[in-house]
Amino acid sequence: MIEDILKYSDEIKDRIGEKRFLHTLRVKDTAIELAKIYSVDEDKAAVAGLLHDCAKIRDVNLLKEEAQENGLKVEGDFEKAPQIIHSYLGSLFAEKLYNVHDEDILNAIKYHTTGRENMSSLEKIIFLADSIEPMRNFDGVIKLRELSYKDLDEAMYFSLNSTIKMLAEKNIYIVPETLYARNFYREMVN
Ligand code: FE
Ligand code: FE
Repeated sequence: MIEDILKYSDEIKDRIGEKRFLHTLRVKDTAIELAKIYSVDEDKAAVAGLLHDCAKIRDVNLLKEEAQENGLKVEGDFEKAPQIIHSYLGSLFAEKLYNVHDEDILNAIKYHTTGRENMSSLEKIIFLADSIEPMRNFDGVIKLRELSYKDLDEAMYFSLNSTIKMLAEKNIYIVPETLYARNFYREMVN
C-alpha cells in the first residue's frame, strides 16, 4: 500500500513544500519503528505517517479556502485554532485523492494534531512519531522519545501535558479534544 502512496510524492511535495515533505518521510520511518515495537501493521503506519501532513498548505488563506471547498466550515474551533485544519483536511485528501479507505489510518491523520480520548495504537503512533522524528528538537524531546519506545499511554500523557503547557503560556486557544485526551491519559497512567 505504501508504494501506491509514494507515487504521489511529487504532488504532495508541491503542495506542502520540500522541507515539510522530508518531515513526513521521517515521520513515516519513525512510525514504522514504533509499529514494529507495538505489533501494529507497519504498512498502515507508513501510509498514515507519509500522509499525516499531506494538506499542510503553508499559505493559511489558501488552506482555509481548500478546507471550505472540501466541506470543512472554517468556524468554531477551526477559526480559533487554525493549526488543526490541516489534520482534518489531510484525512479528507487521503480518502479523496489517495484512495485510502482504512478508518484507522484516516483517524490517525485526522487526530494527529489534537489527539483525542481512547486513541487506537496507530493513532498514538502517528501522534508521537510526529513529535519525536529525528530532526525534532524541543525541551523534553529526549524524554518523550524514551517514553514513546516504552509505553504509548505514558508518552501520550507526557506529550499532551507539554503541549497544553506550551499553548497556555503562549495564550493560544486549546481545543476540547486535547484537554479531554489529556485527562483520559492521566487516568490511564495513574
Ligand atoms: Fe501536522
Ligand atoms: Fe507533522
